[in-house]
Amino acid sequence: MANILIVEDNALNIKLFCDLLAAHGHTPEAVSDSRNALEAARQFKPDLVITDIQLPHVSGLDLIRMIRKDTELASVPIMAVTAYSAVGDEERIRAAGAQAYVSKPISVVRFAQTVDDLLAKGSDIDPTGQAQASWANESNGGPGPTDAGGEES
Ligand code: MN
Repeated sequence: MANILIVEDNALNIKLFCDLLAAHGHTPEAVSDSRNALEAARQFKPDLVITDIQLPHVSGLDLIRMIRKDTELASVPIMAVTAYSAVGDEERIRAAGAQAYVSKPISVVRFAQTVDDLLAKGSDIDPTGQAQASWANESNGGPGPTDAGGEES
């Protein structure tokens, strides 16, 4: 059981992620406007942050960098979710400070596995991301059902 902050501007994805996390016994809280995300994180004190990358106002990459620089939040594990996976995107997301990366439309199995992995390993996070290189790659790609998801907005 964990407190998980979701930063996502698409209402259908918010519902999907919240339902999935609640079904796994977690307590999700969603922020649809990324300008409010840092303050929400300070108040909610999440065990994990799940953020969209394509966000208006404050991009997911900028939000990840802001969290990593925040004295209270710097060690919180971050999982990025993005609809686009152009060459170099994953590297940019990891360089910003996220530990894991999941593509939309999400595989519900992989989504849940990645959440479990991050919650289990979160206390070992190296802010540079170097120590996660070996296991973090497990969070993306590979076979799996893509039976849920939503259009990016
Ligand atoms: Mn979006």
